[in-house]
Amino acid sequence: ISKIGVMTSGGDAPGMNAAIRSVVRTCAYHNIECVGIYRGYEGMMDGDFKLLTARSVNHIIHTGGTVLKSARSAEFKTKEGRKKAHSNLIKEGIDALVLIGGDGTFTGGLIFNNEFNFPIIGIPGTIDNDIYGTNFTIGYDTAINTVVEAIDKIRDTASSHKRLFFVEVMGRDVGHIALNAGVGAGAEEILIPEEDLGLDRLVESLKRSKASGKSSSIVVVAEGDKIGKNVFELKDYIDENMPEYDVRVSVLGHMQRGGSPSCFDRVLASRMGVKAVESLLEGKTNYMVGILDNKMELTSLDKAVKGKSEINMELLRVSDIMTT
Ligand code: ATP
Repeated sequence: ISKIGVMTSGGDAPGMNAAIRSVVRTCAYHNIECVGIYRGYEGMMDGDFKLLTARSVNHIIHTGGTVLKSARSAEFKTKEGRKKAHSNLIKEGIDALVLIGGDGTFTGGLIFNNEFNFPIIGIPGTIDNDIYGTNFTIGYDTAINTVVEAIDKIRDTASSHKRLFFVEVMGRDVGHIALNAGVGAGAEEILIPEEDLGLDRLVESLKRSKASGKSSSIVVVAEGDKIGKNVFELKDYIDENMPEYDVRVSVLGHMQRGGSPSCFDRVLASRMGVKAVESLLEGKTNYMVGILDNKMELTSLDKAVKGKSEINMELLRVSDIMTT
């Protein structure tokens, strides 16, 4: 291997730049070339490439988003699209890829490898932390800190006006963000896709909380919560069934993806970049780099894609006890 291509794909996440920097500098350290592929698979099919040196990635470790840009590409899902991408890589002399992204990015990479026997290693970059084979994905730590900061601010206004706030956070399929940020921000209830609290229990819990002397409440709701109601429908339900509450809704939205990465994400991204490049140099392919018990470990990409990322049941219990 003498030239590695690196790209970011799917949803962006804080810390992706630190990962790009790490991949580029690890290549420089091992005297191999590194090419930045812009706009994910889109740029691969368009030949949107740029040679990156150790100095090309100065001053990006602290920035959010991705300097390589990201995209979602329907064309790469076609055989013709992938053929085009492959011939561009060959033309450029790229002989291996580091893919920074989520499940979809890895699935595309696996199909590509299967067709062209092209070496690939994945780095999990997504705020959702929903990937099997790693305790943490790049961007997750920053995102939960962003959410906690936002909820702290909402709490100030909630307690001044004795209000109940439903705060929607990202998480369609997994409740990691809601559960961790919820516990960290001291939420009264946390609604996640993995557990069906049920509307009755929610009402009961809010009544208990009011009776115990709490004048304001924060309920953190993951986008894909099991009750199956969005925050606005939840507000309507509580308005109807608990008129004693003054209910407000706050949808945090895309701000959860932005911002300067936390120290944890920067260090994680730096470690993953080194491991990814060095794994390719050792001849490995179709693996994802992960962190397990604070060690860099490889999990087969196939398992990473198919496996389920489980929430921490102990944390769920902690959250229940904290609402006493
Ligand atoms: P996030 O978790 O943030 O959504 P992701 O990597 O899962 O990140 P996707 O949009 O699902 O994001 O996937 C990124 C890109 O990977 C897609 O736009 C598409 O180009 C490619 N991809 C996904 N699934 C496939 C597939 N089955 N075949 C080929 N390419 C795919």
